[in-house]
Amino acid sequence: MNPSAPSGAGAALAGRERRPICELPDELVSQIAAGEVIERPASVVRELLDNALDAGARQVTVRLMAGGVRLISVEDDGIGIAREEMALALRRHATSKITSLQDLEAVQTMGFRGEALAAVASVSETSLLSRTADAAHAWALDARSGELRAAARAVGTTVQVKELFFSTPARRKFLKSDATELAHCVEAVRRHALVRPQTGFEIWHDGRLIEQWRATTESDQRIADVLGEDFITHSVPVDHPLPDTAHPAGARVPLRVTGRVGTPEAARSRADHQYAYVNGRHVRDRVLMHAARSAYDDVLHGQRQPAYVLMIGIDPARVDVNVHPTKIEVRFRESQDVHQAVRRAIESALAAPRLGQASASAATVAPAQDAVAVTRAGAAPWLAPTPSQASLGLQVRDLQTLWNPSSAPAAAQPPAPVGPAGGTSGAHALPAGDWPLGRAIAQLQGIYILAENAQGLVVVDMHAAHERIVYERLKQQLGQAAIASQPLLIPATFAATPEEVATTEAHADTLAQLGLEITAFSQRTLAVRSVPISLAQGDAVELARSVLAELAQHEASDVIARAHNALLSTMACHGAVRANRQLTLQEMDALLRQMEDTERSDQCNHGRPTWRQISLRELDALFWRGR
Ligand code: ADP
Ligand code: MG
Repeated sequence: MNPSAPSGAGAALAGRERRPICELPDELVSQIAAGEVIERPASVVRELLDNALDAGARQVTVRLMAGGVRLISVEDDGIGIAREEMALALRRHATSKITSLQDLEAVQTMGFRGEALAAVASVSETSLLSRTADAAHAWALDARSGELRAAARAVGTTVQVKELFFSTPARRKFLKSDATELAHCVEAVRRHALVRPQTGFEIWHDGRLIEQWRATTESDQRIADVLGEDFITHSVPVDHPLPDTAHPAGARVPLRVTGRVGTPEAARSRADHQYAYVNGRHVRDRVLMHAARSAYDDVLHGQRQPAYVLMIGIDPARVDVNVHPTKIEVRFRESQDVHQAVRRAIESALAAPRLGQASASAATVAPAQDAVAVTRAGAAPWLAPTPSQASLGLQVRDLQTLWNPSSAPAAAQPPAPVGPAGGTSGAHALPAGDWPLGRAIAQLQGIYILAENAQGLVVVDMHAAHERIVYERLKQQLGQAAIASQPLLIPATFAATPEEVATTEAHADTLAQLGLEITAFSQRTLAVRSVPISLAQGDAVELARSVLAELAQHEASDVIARAHNALLSTMACHGAVRANRQLTLQEMDALLRQMEDTERSDQCNHGRPTWRQISLRELDALFWRGR
């Protein structure tokens, strides 16, 4: 900005010249409102789709030209608008969806502010064409001229929006290329289509049909159509009702979480496949996004972004949808409870081992309900705990190894010394082909276990798999108990900031639970006196500093849980069977059976896969068999 050339308003203020207060003209008010609601063509698409769906549309056609800048037209077969209300539909704060504050608090429709059409019309050339069921013909209304004339159309409504931002060139300059605007428009339709499987959608661009999603009663079918079969293959269903009765104290919100969550294999580098809905409304809500990401803490490391489609059903009175002009954000009354419920729902969906299920034909869409029944009810034989599993000597011996990593020879224990019971009972009651991971047939290069199952060949990374087994077992056995610590021969002192000293004093108990003893040596110096046994070889000062930094930022209980898991993960890695260990077939079989019985066993603690299926079909293809 050039300070020597002040703008008009700046000059007025600088000169303290008083201007009279006056009410803004209607059109300008709408244009200002449009600034909040209508950012780009995709915003118009979203508003018009909301209206079409609120009108009960079963089929919606979106036509675009030049990325939606030249034209956006949305046709529906909903209830239509009566002739005498058409002009009203374009007025600000005119709506058929609420009439009182009570209505607002229980609102079930997408719209309720009565602002969208007015805002759109103020920044474009808008026209309405609509017909109700009892009308002899349709009516067309031109927003600018106000002209209303008879027209032809079946029952339903078409809203046409031409030359968006033609009257506000400043706004128009912010638009990106047609291709980019088109992509945003398609994304807007996708967001609606994912939760409305029973409505068919078509998108046309410059006269070409570019997307078509047929109406279906199957939610999974729509998800497959919109996000691709791949997402179905690499995702698991979530269905998590939390009935009131489960929480007698009434402390929890009755909440239902449904949808599909991607397995770690479906993770992406961008957060572009994360869809969350509250009562059918697409939202980008911090509570939900955080809950979802934290559910993946244990299986997805680093910067990878999970993919998911989550539908939250909640009593409308417990969520405020009127906190954002485009309603993309909401406010939950009990956001902690919602966070916890969503996190748990995803965690438990991800925890069930997907052996066998994942190897099933990738191209078929599994009915969501069946998959849930199998993994939940324990009907699958591999989920039922077998006596032989419990009596395996693994746990105790591994634990000792882990807590005492310096006893080197013990670290090379076989993963599963199979006792007499292990080889005979439970584990081998089924024919080998029926075990999801099959029967071990060989070990390859001291790294991989090869096994044979009904589908073909299974290849297991034995270290990765064993690491997960040990880790899950440690988590179960140690729970939230304090981590064993070991005093340092010479306390490690370091120059600390005042915050670090304060955190040390405030969180002494937490630190003790983490196996850390830190005391203030002076105002400016901290001394680390004990560290977790398993980390005794590491840099005590660095460890103390990072834990203190975490404690200063996060809830103590969170830090404990996460530190616990991180520590256990380190320990599990030390404790898991190393490469180049020769295993007997029995030992390999025992490892496979443990995998089948372990939550999250499809990935190691670092998020890498632990096993892969190579189907007979793939093998046949390699050798051109059956051609
Ligand atoms: P809101 O959706 O918040 O009510 P809008 O400005 O989007 O406000 O729409 C105003 C009114 O116009 C709606 O309340 C509805 O009665 C009517 N309307 C808009 N679009 C449609 C449509 N596609 N089908 C039927 N009625 C519609
Ligand atoms: Mg609306």
